[in-house]
Amino acid sequence: MSIEKAVLYVVATPIGNLEDMSLRAVEVLRGVDLIAAEDTRHSRRLLQRFNIRTPLLALHEHNERRMVERLLRRVDAGAALALISDAGTPLVSDPGFLLVREARCRGIRVSPVPGPSALLAALSVAGLPTHDFRFLGFPPRTHAQRVQWAQGLVDERQTLVLYESSHRVLETLRDLAEWLGGERQCVVARELTKLHETLINGSLSELIAILERDPEQNKGEFVLLIAAAVGDASEDARQLRSADRVVGILAEEMPLAQAVALAARISGARKNLLYRRALGGAQGDRK
Ligand code: SAM
Repeated sequence: MSIEKAVLYVVATPIGNLEDMSLRAVEVLRGVDLIAAEDTRHSRRLLQRFNIRTPLLALHEHNERRMVERLLRRVDAGAALALISDAGTPLVSDPGFLLVREARCRGIRVSPVPGPSALLAALSVAGLPTHDFRFLGFPPRTHAQRVQWAQGLVDERQTLVLYESSHRVLETLRDLAEWLGGERQCVVARELTKLHETLINGSLSELIAILERDPEQNKGEFVLLIAAAVGDASEDARQLRSADRVVGILAEEMPLAQAVALAARISGARKNLLYRRALGGAQGDRK
């Protein structure tokens, strides 16, 4: 296979099982002049496994801005460059965007070597509609940002796909259950292509119970897929938001606990739920 000069190849690597490395990925990584990798120590192991001896250079979120110029100068001078990340497809919740954008702005040829991605691997097996999905990357970390993020998802009519780490998977499922309703269907795809590959589907409440019961199910890497809002779920969420608004209005005139108690009586929503949502900032949402 011939490797073109003055090209940036964006190369996907396995998300677990090394046998998913494509023949073309191996050929390209062997043939280019330089490989930009997110973590050179991590990638060196992969490259050794496939007998690839091409020099490696680090390109990660902390140095990407600085490295772009240096790397593209080499490509402009005729070098063939490959970009890889620790696992899966570069740029998908991984570094590389600045490099690719700048390369394309300068008219440099950017060529994909497609392959594994946890996003598409999970979508392909979850059994949820794939014709219209929204990829959310990783959820935000601070509580306030998470509340705003989850609120924005309530009425989404697309399959939602997100990445999550093992430390936060349960917390994220709980936040989603709180805002989208515990009945919303979901699939937890864990450790895809690896020894402990597991797919569990059920309602958000059921999945929370499973992960709470079995610590093994909290380990590893996760993709969460949430079914689109359907009639009733969305209607429940709307009623809950309207109860939030009642809490907000009443809370201007009386203590929060009393406002919540009254709003619960008016709307039929659970007092505890309204209280937690009020503390999370929902009563400020008067849209
Ligand atoms: N660029 C990668 C891709 O194309 O899939 C994703 C990189 S992102 C930093 C890493 C996240 O992807 C993990 O935290 C996890 O959410 C998800 N992930 C990666 N490998 C996975 C696997 N084997 N099974 C499930 N999720 C995985």
